[in-house]
Amino acid sequence: MKFCSTNKKSGLVSFKEALFRGLADDGGLFMPTEIPKLSKDFFNNISSLSFQEISCTVARVFLGDEIPPQTLKQIIDDAINFDAPLVEIDENIKVLELFHGPTLAFKDFGARFMARTISYFREQSDHEVTILVATSGDTGSAVANGFFNIEGIKVVLLYPSQKVSHIQEQQLTTLGGNISALEIEGTFDDCQRMVKEAFADKEITSKITLSSANSINIARLLPQSFYYFSAYSQLKDRSKSLIFSVPSGNFGNLTAGLIAYEMGLPLERFIAATNINDVFPVFLKTGIFNAKASVQTISNAMDVGNPSNLARIIFLYGNPQRIAEKIFSCSFSDAETKNGIKDLYSKTAYIIDPHGAVGYLALREYIDQTHLKSYNGIVLETAHPAKFPEVVEETLYVKIEMPENLKACLEKEKITTKISNDFRELKDFLLG
Ligand SMILES: *Cc1c(COP(=O)(O)O)cnc(C)c1O
Repeated sequence: MKFCSTNKKSGLVSFKEALFRGLADDGGLFMPTEIPKLSKDFFNNISSLSFQEISCTVARVFLGDEIPPQTLKQIIDDAINFDAPLVEIDENIKVLELFHGPTLAFKDFGARFMARTISYFREQSDHEVTILVATSGDTGSAVANGFFNIEGIKVVLLYPSQKVSHIQEQQLTTLGGNISALEIEGTFDDCQRMVKEAFADKEITSKITLSSANSINIARLLPQSFYYFSAYSQLKDRSKSLIFSVPSGNFGNLTAGLIAYEMGLPLERFIAATNINDVFPVFLKTGIFNAKASVQTISNAMDVGNPSNLARIIFLYGNPQRIAEKIFSCSFSDAETKNGIKDLYSKTAYIIDPHGAVGYLALREYIDQTHLKSYNGIVLETAHPAKFPEVVEETLYVKIEMPENLKACLEKEKITTKISNDFRELKDFLLG
């Protein structure tokens, strides 16, 4: 499979090249040149396949000509060594729990898969690789964990000072070893801009082999399509219309769902659920895209004012009308999000985190508008509620049980380097 740029102004590359470059030469994001449909047999037999078998089938489509099947299987078995269970809330609504990985958020899928593919390709050369990542919280810890102690790889994380939760900060800053955390005096958008500037800086890229691991990297994106198929395989009644509600920030998760859809996954509609950082729902409504500065919310991993994967969605579908045929989108305030957490808990005793709650509210909004009576509505639960104890506990007046590995991480010492949002300081750090 070859990969092209969403800007269509640079040549085709292999998966390996797309993986190491992160961004195309023309500034675009990489996408597969074609998205083949999976066979009827695969869908007919899907409920007899394990999550890892499903993942291998999907991965082979894109990587089969560059990674031998046995190696690809090892990469997947090792990267995805945890489940994504579909939990039934009621007859119509289900929650796909994507938080059973080591950092308790869905970004473990992409980060662990990417770390192992980089490690595989790096074995064929002896360059040290520096992974440069901007994180609004969960990306960084997933990447740091995914790459921790992998030989020949350094990780530099940029995160906005005081704009990630205490737990997220602990997860980002306590690993040490080959992981460095930079605390940026600015917003997540500043962090993303600085990372982009570093990739565009000829002096840096001539001295260091840089690679990105945030959601722009195609190796992060592709494995996120695996669990859409797995969710489908876990449904009891696959004849009802299927709707995925995806809590969205940079729209990588949703784009991975669109790829699954283009591979033939039979579904009715996606819902892009956002917090008050609502540039995407506004874009679908008005046809006009206006990037905005991000605003802090209680679903802070979705605080993005200029979602990078929008370029991929436009690449797939062209214009806002066609996008709106596939995707319904709406946004919710923090107060509404808290009510969503409360409402779901009081009806079902299910404790959802603030990101998942935005997804739950958006699904309900869609059902209100479409009057569907019988459906499979799947909310992607992107993080474990114990990662946001302040919000969840003050909303529900219940104590959340901390998973063991999280408890251990909270006791470690934070180690960071604090810099301003001026690119030159990042450059000095990288070259120094
Ligand atoms: C990153 C993240 C999101 C947003 O995912 P995107 O792929 O950036 O849209 C949602 N919820 C949680 C918990 C996250 O960490």
